[in-house]
Amino acid sequence: MSDDKQDGMPLHFRILIALVVGTVVGVAINPGAIELPDEQIAAELKIEEVEAGEGFSVDVKESSGFESVRRKFQSREALNAALPQLAAGVTESGLPAATITIAERAVHIVEAAGRITIDYTRKHNGQPVSTTLKVASADELPEHWREFHSQHGGGWKRTLTAAAKYGGDLFLRLLKMITVPLIVTSLITGVAGLDNSRFGAMFGRTLAYYGITSMLAITTGLIIVNIVRPGIGAELPGGTEAVLAGGEQSLTGILLGLVDNMIPTNPIQSLASSSFLSIITFSIIFGVFIVRTGGETARVLRDFFQAAFEVMMRLTMAIISLAPYGVFCFMVYATASQGLAIFATLAWYMLAVFLALVVHSCITLPLIVKFVAKRSPLEFARAMSPALMTAFSTASSNGTLPLTMTCVEDRAKVSNKVSSFVLPLGATVNMDGTALYEAVAVLFIAQAYRGDMAIAEQIVVAVTALLASVGAAGIPHAGLVMMAIVLQAVNLPLEAQGIIIAVDRVLDMCRTSVNVWSDSCGCAIIAGLDSSTDASKES
Ligand code: ASP
Repeated sequence: MSDDKQDGMPLHFRILIALVVGTVVGVAINPGAIELPDEQIAAELKIEEVEAGEGFSVDVKESSGFESVRRKFQSREALNAALPQLAAGVTESGLPAATITIAERAVHIVEAAGRITIDYTRKHNGQPVSTTLKVASADELPEHWREFHSQHGGGWKRTLTAAAKYGGDLFLRLLKMITVPLIVTSLITGVAGLDNSRFGAMFGRTLAYYGITSMLAITTGLIIVNIVRPGIGAELPGGTEAVLAGGEQSLTGILLGLVDNMIPTNPIQSLASSSFLSIITFSIIFGVFIVRTGGETARVLRDFFQAAFEVMMRLTMAIISLAPYGVFCFMVYATASQGLAIFATLAWYMLAVFLALVVHSCITLPLIVKFVAKRSPLEFARAMSPALMTAFSTASSNGTLPLTMTCVEDRAKVSNKVSSFVLPLGATVNMDGTALYEAVAVLFIAQAYRGDMAIAEQIVVAVTALLASVGAAGIPHAGLVMMAIVLQAVNLPLEAQGIIIAVDRVLDMCRTSVNVWSDSCGCAIIAGLDSSTDASKES
């Protein structure tokens, strides 16, 4: 897109520079952890049965007055097994006084606009334990922490870190602002642009292809992110905020909730409350009925939504052009509060996304081309290479569309009848790379916030990642904007996205190529199926 090169320098270079400069500034002002000396405490252990049959809890109260920690055990046996670890010398139930060594005590104070976060990590007899407090002002802190904060908190470094966090959050607000209008205009325009005569067999097959390949991509992403587990042990800035519910509902309950969500009782209310699933289904249905209504009415509405979509695309690009500032702020905040460790975290996350994209584009899709379309995947890829490379460099399926059509028709010899239907709709609706990316990114965030995710919740991620990819426009970083949908579905806060914006461009380039590759393979497959139907009709 033209805005991409606004000041002469491509956006991705500006983002890269912001990443480097932000890191340098953040590392320079990192106030570091406040280390406390090891101590031996006479801990008070309080053992209780949580609820009949639900296990036991043990409260360990640190004598220094700092914190007490509650640990839960499923059974008496598990509790007994852990007691010697927890407190040397204790093996029985009751209320023993025990001596616990508290070592490697470190306190991080992060002060962001209107919020103080205190992270207190230490080891109880070698077992890592952490406590996090989040309050709006120092007055709300418990007495001992208030004293601690008045001694160690504040200072210009923390003020600067707080300002950086605020700046980054403003950028996230802008992204949030455009999500709803972008989904609505992009989807209605994509669907309403279809030709009524095409709502036949080809429509069904094309939708089936889109759905199946996107789900395969998501499954690949989920498998790989569960193997690599990039988020486990990772600390995302601001991550401790999420002590969230979830994973406790039954699968049926969750799925029924999703279905309920997909059929809004009041679409206007859904728009106002950013209920994404409702918005997506209503927009698709509205688009289909624009086509069904036809005539002058359809023309007026098509033109209207097309015009609105163009405006939204320009607005999105304008906001995305601010990404270097957002990335700068996030990097300052991340490295000032966590140091360089954040890079190791991001590297694993990128590796997981990249690996999954490679498996989907180099194994799954080629196999489908070979066995369903009965074409050589290698030759087909060669024919599509100009479009794939353009998709990679522009990170925009929409921008690449004219070239994709030319390659599919002229170089890969697929009929215009198929390509003119499969490609334009696919550029909006079929985004395997984006779907996969949504799933991996959200699982990464969930792993960092609250550990491995239950299967039931992963299914919700899969379904909503599919819908998010359907709703995403084919422009740079649209997948990032849409991630709100998936985060919302599993109760993760939008702020979790902050740091992954820094590396989004590279991943966007990769996933856009996969999006375009999947659309192109779709053409080969629909054309293959079409010709075999035609052949069987003739014989
Ligand atoms: N840039 C992608 C595309 O145009 C969408 C995304 O951000 O995932 O296909």
